[in-house]
Amino acid sequence: MNAAVNVEEKLFQNRYRVDAGRPHIRIKQPDLCRTECGTQSCTYVCPASCYKAEGNGSVTLITDGCLECGSCRIICNEHANVAWEYPRGGYGVLFKFG
Ligand code: SF4
Repeated sequence: MNAAVNVEEKLFQNRYRVDAGRPHIRIKQPDLCRTECGTQSCTYVCPASCYKAEGNGSVTLITDGCLECGSCRIICNEHANVAWEYPRGGYGVLFKFG
C-alpha cells in the first residue's frame, strides 16, 4: 500500500549547507517593505517561509532554509527590492530525490 506523504515531510528530507555570514538573498531597502509595499507578497509566497511579516510592519528574511525556487525574486516586482543570486558552489539546498 502507498502511504501518503505530505509536503512538509518531503521538505524535511532536504538538507542545507548554510554559507554563514553570506546570505544569497538580501532585501535591498528594508524600510521600503514597511513603508511602500502594500502586499508583502514574499511573506506568503515563499514555500520555505523565509520571509516573515513582523508586528511593526517590517519584513525579516532568514535564508537558511531557502529552496532556491526564485519566487521571491519574481514576485517582488512592485519595488524590485530583492537582491538574489544562487549560493556559492557547495552551499545551499541539497534536494533528496526519490
Ligand atoms: Fe523562499 Fe523561494 Fe525566495 Fe528561497 S527563492 S526565499 S524558497 S521564495
